[in-house]
Amino acid sequence: MNQLENGDNGAARVVIIGAGHAGSTFAGLVRDAGHRGAITLIGEEPVLPYHRPPLSKAYLKGAAGLSALKPESHYADRAIDLRLGSRAIAIDTAGRSVLLADGTSENYDILILATGAKARRVDIPGAALNGVHYLRRADDADRLRASIAGNGRLVIVGGGYIGLEVAASALALGCQVVLVEREGRILARVASAPLAEFLAKRHREAGLHIVEGGEVVAFDGQDGHVGAVRLADGTCFEADAVLVGVGASVCDELAVAAGLACADGILVDAAGCTSNPRIFAIGDVARFPGAANGGLVRMESVANAVEMAKRAVAAISGQTIPAHVLPTFWSEQGAYRLQIAGMADADSSAIISQVESSSQIVIFRVGPDERVLSVEAVNAPREFMLGRMLIAEGRAVPPGLLSA
Ligand code: FAD
Repeated sequence: MNQLENGDNGAARVVIIGAGHAGSTFAGLVRDAGHRGAITLIGEEPVLPYHRPPLSKAYLKGAAGLSALKPESHYADRAIDLRLGSRAIAIDTAGRSVLLADGTSENYDILILATGAKARRVDIPGAALNGVHYLRRADDADRLRASIAGNGRLVIVGGGYIGLEVAASALALGCQVVLVEREGRILARVASAPLAEFLAKRHREAGLHIVEGGEVVAFDGQDGHVGAVRLADGTCFEADAVLVGVGASVCDELAVAAGLACADGILVDAAGCTSNPRIFAIGDVARFPGAANGGLVRMESVANAVEMAKRAVAAISGQTIPAHVLPTFWSEQGAYRLQIAGMADADSSAIISQVESSSQIVIFRVGPDERVLSVEAVNAPREFMLGRMLIAEGRAVPPGLLSA
C-alpha cells in the first residue's frame, strides 16, 4: 500500500515541480503505470527536458545539440500538461496548491518535488566578473562555450567530475587549460586515490595543467571581465574565462519554506515520501535511506534520478517498492570513460586489485569480510560488469581471484 490518505490514488491530481531527469521520468512512468488523474509537470527551463550530462562533454564541444529526454509527443500522448518556462515559488500544504511565478496556482493531491541542485557559488573578490562561469543548465553551457570559443585560456576551479570533463572538452577545442584543486588530489571526495592518480596523469599527458592543494582566493579583472585567477600562495594564472566547478547545493528552498524535514536535501523514506505524506521528493534534491551503514544519502546521478522516480511511481500506484539497485555513475573525460558502481567507506574497506595499462584501470574495494563493495573502471566495461555482479551477489571474493 502507498502512504497517502486518499484511497483512490489512480485519479489523484499529480503536480511535479522540476522537469529534469527525475521529474520527467516520473511523469511518463506514472501515466504508463495506469494513473488516470491529471499530471502537471512544471519546469523553470524553457526547453523540453533534456540530457544534462552532455553539457560538459559533447554539447560543450559543439559535437552534439541539446538532446531531449523525450519528444514533445511523449508528453502529449500521455496527457501530461507540460508547463515549461514556469517557476514554482511556494507550496501551500494546507490548501494543497503550488503557486507559480506568473501568479497562477495548481492544486494537487500528490506533489512531487524534483527540483534538483544548482552549482555552488564561490564568494571571493571578483566572483561577479564577466567570464566567470558555472555549469548546470543548457544556457550555462552556451555561455561557457561562447566564452572559450576563441581557443583562449580557461582556468577551472575544482577538480571534481564536472571540472575534469570541462577540462577535457576545452582542451579538445584548443584551449589552454589550468585546473586548480584545493584538496591534495583531484576527485578527493568521490573516487579512490589510485583512480584519481591515473586520471590526473592522463589529463596531464593531454596538456592539462593541474594544481593540487591550490586555494583560489580572487579573480582579477579589467573593464568588468575576468583576466586572472589568484591563489593563496601568490600564484596567478591569466584567464580569458573561468569555470567554477566546486559542487552542487540542493534546490530545497520550497520544501524548507513548506516545513518539510530537510538536512542538505529533502528527507524521504525508501519510497521517496517526505515528512508530508502527500509530498514526495526524488532525484538530486532528495536524501534517502541508501547508505551502506543504513544512513541517509543524497546522490547526484542520472541513474539515481530514474530509480527514485520508479520507487515513487510504485508507491503511488500501490505496487511493491522496488529494492534499491546498486548505485552507479559514469563520467567521460576525453578518451576515458569511467564507470563506478557500489559504495565503500574508505576507512573500512581496502583496495585489493588494480589492473592497469596506460588506458585502463580497474579498482575493486572490499570490506573486512572480503566482499566486493564497489568497482571503479576506466575503459574496462567487462571488468565493470564483473564488479557489479560480485557486489550484487554479495560475494566474498578472495583477493587472489580478482587480481588473477
Ligand atoms: P535536474 O536534472 O537538475 O532537474 C531539476 C529541474 O528542476 C531543473 O530543470 C530546474 O530548472 C527545475 N527547477 C528547480 N526549481 C524549480 C522551481 N522552483 N520551479 C520549476 N522548476 C524548477 N550524472 C551522471 O550520472 N553522469 C554524468 O556523466 C553526469 N554529468 C553531468 C554533467 C553536468 C554538467 C551536470 C550539471 C550534471 C551531470 N550529472 C551526471 C548529474 C545529473 O545530470 C543529475 O544527477 C540529474 O540531472 C539529476 O536529475 P534531477 O531531475 O534530480 O535534477
